Amino acid sequence: MARPPVTLRFLGAAGTVTGSRFLVSTPRAQVLVDCGLFQGQKELRLRNWEPFPVDPDSLDAVVLSHAHVDHCGYLPALVRAGYGGPVYGTRGTAELAAIVLPDSGRLQEEDASFANRKGFSKHKPALPLYTEEDAIAAAELIRPVETGAPLEIAPGIGLELTRAGHILGAASVSLRLEGPPERRLLVSGDLGRSQHPLLLDPAPPPAADWVLVESTYGDREHQEDDVVEQLAAAVRETVARKGVVVIPAFAVDRTEVVLFHLRALAEAGRIPRVPIFVDSPMALAALRVYRRALAEGREEVRPEFRGRDEVLDPGELTEIRDPRESRALCDAPGPFVVVSASGMATGGRVLHHLAARLPDPINSVLLVGYQVGGTRGHRLLRGEHAVKMLGRYVPVRAQVRSLAAFSVHADASELMDWLRRLPSPPLGVFAVHGEAAAAAALASQVDRSLGWPAVVPAHDERVQL
Ligand SMILES: [Zn+2]
Repeated sequence: MARPPVTLRFLGAAGTVTGSRFLVSTPRAQVLVDCGLFQGQKELRLRNWEPFPVDPDSLDAVVLSHAHVDHCGYLPALVRAGYGGPVYGTRGTAELAAIVLPDSGRLQEEDASFANRKGFSKHKPALPLYTEEDAIAAAELIRPVETGAPLEIAPGIGLELTRAGHILGAASVSLRLEGPPERRLLVSGDLGRSQHPLLLDPAPPPAADWVLVESTYGDREHQEDDVVEQLAAAVRETVARKGVVVIPAFAVDRTEVVLFHLRALAEAGRIPRVPIFVDSPMALAALRVYRRALAEGREEVRPEFRGRDEVLDPGELTEIRDPRESRALCDAPGPFVVVSASGMATGGRVLHHLAARLPDPINSVLLVGYQVGGTRGHRLLRGEHAVKMLGRYVPVRAQVRSLAAFSVHADASELMDWLRRLPSPPLGVFAVHGEAAAAAALASQVDRSLGWPAVVPAHDERVQL
């Protein structure tokens, strides 16, 4: 009798950049690679509310590539639905997820209660997808795994993580699935850029039969023409107008990279020394994790910064924790720089800073990462004249600049370079984690330049490995 096939099911990040979830099923086990939240357009976010397509209890293990919400933010919902098994990720991922997940739970609760107070939810009462408490329980399931150390995580399924250089702890996930024939599945996770100032480049990928490669910037090349100078110019000009520079930063990694550059620029005399505020409890907690990783000299940190956590302190840094201080800062006169989450202005304290500063042309807003379609960050990027936040429209008069090259995502050439380093050609490549056009562009480039079959999977598509 033929054995049941080994299958891969794309439960998210297929034709879109969020909701990374890939279900691998073998005759003996079932493993979920990444457990991300859908973000952006409403029809995508609604997917977070659909019941998980298989009984969560039937999963043997969950593996997380890294601690960004679109890769791990659904885990508390899965746990709430009954999953209680092991979750594997690197130590950095475990440390950061313990910050990111509860914060996501808090945001879900705040959004629900805000919607209830203002009465703008269709659901009465509006309920959170999960709570902070669910998220804390989920984070406690994560078991740290070393990169480069193979581990059996389910009957007949071996796991190995390799450095992805995207944020602290980020890894590519390689699964060895028992045969016959044995299959090796490689999920790139999000791949970093070789320009990351603090983290080492992605490691070469291990051999694989099937590869899932991210394609966030699959149709674009980052413009290198001195993004750091663009940051410096924006700060100089805004400070000269006595304005405020608002940087909506992804609380994990972008904050660190921005602080690193602000320090270097101030030391080099390229920007004036002005107060810098980090107003995000989550960003500050993540900053502590990065400082510790630098101080400990972890392997994924660039050798020149091992043991040198002071490079993350721009000198004039004030950490804002109290919500009252945060509100007071919204009324304070410039010049100063405020870094606050979330990075796509989908929630968090940055909304109050944006609502306060956007109406005045002396201020500026710097977008330092990818902006998913449908988010406020994307509306600002597109140059909309008014953007709705906190239930009302705020006119946009401040200068909005995009510094996308600060992105922690590889561009098309860098993705191709990573694929070229595979020790042998795979049977096929799936371009995931990209908007449809970006994913299609990367797939066709793989097909054209490398001669490997490459496709963009459809949402909920199932394939045999
Ligand atoms: Zn990411």
